Amino acid sequence: MIFTQVDQRTRHFIAGLPKAELHVHIEGTLTPTRRWEIAARNGIRLPYADITALTASMDFEAPDAPTYLQKFLAAYYEGIEVLRTPEDFRDLTVDYLANCRDERVLYAELSFDPQAHTSRGVALAAVMEGLAEGRRIGRQELGVETNLILCINRDRPVDTAVSALTEARKFRDQIMGIGLDSDELYNPPAKFRAVYDLARSEGYRLTAHCDVDQPATRENIRQCLDILKVERIDHGINAIEDPALVDEARARGITFTTCPTWRQIDTAPRRVDRIRKMYDQGLKVTLNTDDPGLFASGTMGKMLPAVMVAGGFTFAEMAQLMINAFEGAWIDDGLRHALLGRTREYMLDWGNDK
Ligand SMILES: [Zn+2]
Repeated sequence: MIFTQVDQRTRHFIAGLPKAELHVHIEGTLTPTRRWEIAARNGIRLPYADITALTASMDFEAPDAPTYLQKFLAAYYEGIEVLRTPEDFRDLTVDYLANCRDERVLYAELSFDPQAHTSRGVALAAVMEGLAEGRRIGRQELGVETNLILCINRDRPVDTAVSALTEARKFRDQIMGIGLDSDELYNPPAKFRAVYDLARSEGYRLTAHCDVDQPATRENIRQCLDILKVERIDHGINAIEDPALVDEARARGITFTTCPTWRQIDTAPRRVDRIRKMYDQGLKVTLNTDDPGLFASGTMGKMLPAVMVAGGFTFAEMAQLMINAFEGAWIDDGLRHALLGRTREYMLDWGNDK
């Protein structure tokens, strides 16, 4: 339904546009087919008759917003139960990056949740080995550059976050940044001040989730800026409700990784009007898929045409949204220059084609 209104020219433009995404949870890219296959090879019996039944189980959408995030997270954590060996994490990563190549996503920052794995007996070394191999294949065989963001689960005790950071020291050179995800209710950013102080002292780049329309969301955004001292905010859409927050985020050049995803029950991409407003107010906003294995909106190439139409974004504005991602990416200037150059070239060719 969502795609019927997208014309051929828009599709063509988006297909070729060089893209980046800064907000995608690698565990949330797991597709029902791959989940089924990994479960089988690990000898895990899933409580579903077949892949169709498994896919149907992910229609967890509840129109009642207060419980939606909890239901979503339950489905997310149920999905990752099958991930146990380095091969599982490698295959998960390669699936996602092969799709990036097909959709011209040239760069991706992959969030991962170490506590969700170590807490169920999967060694961090297994996770890191699989991710490293998947990323190597991505770079060498698929032409997709990546970086890793270690996400702290905010609904687990703070001392386990400190342990996760301490354990991650062995893999410091593989991890670019630290994030904060999972259930925000009763778990404000300030609770993680010590974790972020530690991460900063170890030279990590810093971001944190401020999920959409959560209780105290504006206060949480404020805490991210003032207490965690992040340089990016994942989602953070409610910032537009407070002119002082908008001014400060703009002055500090904060990048917002928004996610105009949609579910089976939605008839249009969500949050697009507010994302449009952020863009119009001069905030550094980017577009991302968050958990493409769980949302009907899927991957960047599938999601963006509908977002472009729904938000009334021009070709140049869509290119600018991708430029925002390349500029907000945690990469060196050489790679940034190369990626921006490819966008510039594409837009010149597109302009000449008209
Ligand atoms: Zn997220």
